[in-house]
Amino acid sequence: MEEKNIKEEPFHTADEGFVDPEGKRYHIEFKVDPKLCTCCGQCAIACPVGCITVTELSAVINHAECLSCGSCAAACVVGACTEVTVYEAE
Ligand code: SF4
Ligand code: SF4
Repeated sequence: MEEKNIKEEPFHTADEGFVDPEGKRYHIEFKVDPKLCTCCGQCAIACPVGCITVTELSAVINHAECLSCGSCAAACVVGACTEVTVYEAE
């Protein structure tokens, strides 16, 4: 079966989020894997709205303030901060 790349085909709806070609609603979030995070703080420096706190265990993103801009993932050299697609419950 042909695999569809939803990142190449999404369109914005009037409110937040996206709809994939099969009509399922989703949004993009950025998440930190505490197992990979070295607590270097580069993501927090890169975040334009200051919504990342770095604890002694891991960086933590405040999703209520996050713009989903991706600067944190771009700044993370160990791949601990990554983009994830979150589908909304139907
Ligand atoms: S996606 Fe952007 S706004 Fe959200 S935590 Fe990362 S750098 Fe900050
Ligand atoms: S840049 Fe990556 S490794 Fe460094 S604190 Fe942020 S998530 Fe952790």
